[in-house]
Amino acid sequence: MGPELVSESLLPDQASLQRRLMEWAAISSWTYDPTGMARMAAVLETEMASLGVEVQRRELAPEVSLDDQGREHHAKLGPLLVARCRPQAKRQVLLGIHYDTVYGPNLTAGALVQHGEHLRGPGVADAKGGIVVLLAALEAFEQTAAASDLGWELFFNPDEEIGSPCSLEYFESCRDRFDFALLFEPALADGGMAIQRKGSGNFTFVVRGKSAHAGRDFHEGRNAVVHASRLAERIADCNGQFGTSTFNVARLVGGGPLNAVPDLCTLRVNVRVDVASRQPLIESRLRAIAHEFDSVAGFHCELHGSISSPPKPPTPQVWSLAKRIEAIATPLGQEPTWIETGGVCDGNKLAAVGIPTIDTLGPRGGGLHSEREWVDLTSLVPRARLVASLLNAHARANILE
Ligand SMILES: [Zn+2]
Repeated sequence: MGPELVSESLLPDQASLQRRLMEWAAISSWTYDPTGMARMAAVLETEMASLGVEVQRRELAPEVSLDDQGREHHAKLGPLLVARCRPQAKRQVLLGIHYDTVYGPNLTAGALVQHGEHLRGPGVADAKGGIVVLLAALEAFEQTAAASDLGWELFFNPDEEIGSPCSLEYFESCRDRFDFALLFEPALADGGMAIQRKGSGNFTFVVRGKSAHAGRDFHEGRNAVVHASRLAERIADCNGQFGTSTFNVARLVGGGPLNAVPDLCTLRVNVRVDVASRQPLIESRLRAIAHEFDSVAGFHCELHGSISSPPKPPTPQVWSLAKRIEAIATPLGQEPTWIETGGVCDGNKLAAVGIPTIDTLGPRGGGLHSEREWVDLTSLVPRARLVASLLNAHARANILE
């Protein structure tokens, strides 16, 4: 075993990690549940403080979204938690993960079930398991002799499951401050990790026509549902025109009483972009289509949204980080495979500000965002040991050189 491998004796044991995980997964931290988010934030503040660092609780600006009537809504989310350790050290690493989940309070209470080494429940892998691994890795690393040579920043953000609209400013502020970043999204069931991700963006078209009585003045009306349906087809036709990028017409909402010509319809589209060079082309195509549908007499069409997560390419720096992870993982009995995925996470956003990022250092798991979500409990300690060893290696000598 190489000298950078951190001894297993520095890590908490599986039983204690499992206890933390079960406690934290039982707290509802659905993005839009302020009470649960406050509880989870308080737990994390205590955990971060026990690493001997000062924790900053940063309140974020509210999330702004458009409802099906095209009206703006503002939602107050949980705080962003940030802690820094040894900011003067020459080498600096960023570590973090989101603490929100997709599960509302009704889905959280009493939902944990253990089958042998698998624990099933809301957020056990995505990302409460990742939080457990991250904190255990730092706890172990801080006991190593080399720790004093490496600075780190730790963050927990409250909005990844809705695309991190409010954490974006924080990610921007990370530019040029770190050698690399490690995020703790779950690894695949077989331990595979993401090396490349598509980009993603949500778009809303608000289509307005003119209402009229369906019997008396039908021909006076301008039917927004029909106009938006034609628009939906135009968007669907973009599939196949931009490499392997995809356009998912996800939701069309409009209309009311059957005796009225509808004057409002909203169309929601999710776009996945394969490579960064296509991003501006796709955005300008969508704007051009919106403009075309806005120009038809009697109609208005407004476009909202953008590609909020740019594609995450496998840059040479990301590959050298991946290879170093592989070299440390192999003697630990973990042999990661590297995969491409259409899924996005905060790794896309950190990559976009120029930080080499590996984002799937959490435990092995699956069934994410469903009631079958599970985590492999035997992967908790080994993943934490892998990360502690990687930090130890970078503390001794720059692993990207
Ligand atoms: Zn996640």
